[in-house]
Amino acid sequence: VPEGLRALLLGRIRDVADHPAPGVVFKDITPLLADPAAFSALTEALAELCRKHGATKVVGLEARGFILAAPAAERAGLGFIPVRKAGKLPGATLSQAYDLEYGSAEIEIHAEDLSADDRVLVIDDVLATGGTAEASLRLIRRAGAQVVGLAVLLEIGFLAGRDRVLTALEGAPFEALITV
Ligand code: AMP
Repeated sequence: VPEGLRALLLGRIRDVADHPAPGVVFKDITPLLADPAAFSALTEALAELCRKHGATKVVGLEARGFILAAPAAERAGLGFIPVRKAGKLPGATLSQAYDLEYGSAEIEIHAEDLSADDRVLVIDDVLATGGTAEASLRLIRRAGAQVVGLAVLLEIGFLAGRDRVLTALEGAPFEALITV
């Protein structure tokens, strides 16, 4: 990522201490989304990753991943597929459970949206522990499609999510526009 773009994006991400719980530094991307130049530059950078990796579909992760993935998919001329929290999608779904620090969570995808010919780029806003992204990669493979990469706006380095997703990516690339 060129330094100018990195500075533009990072300068529009706000750190919010102790949100949503004490000790967490929340990376708030709403200032970036509200800035048309930064939002457009981000969308183009993600669309370029779609082209670079020969994606045929873009999967976005609920909820902030949707905001990034949908315009990138449209700009790259690709379809967009949502991975949602359990119970939201109305059609026939595949589900994947995963562990959180306390308890567990479950995500779902409409199985019919993916086929064996699909080359999928997964997009989310922030990679923290990597648990959500890892579960989404499983879901896409179970749907029979190929994963061509995982792209995030921001990687929180000290949480080591990268190690976790690299295993799950099985050789496909991990792209973080910014790592802090
Ligand atoms: P994880 O599964 O731990 O990688 O968490 C990833 C999901 O939680 C992403 O979809 C992020 O949107 C959100 N998330 C986790 N930690 C943060 C944080 N510090 N700031 C903003 N979003 C976060």
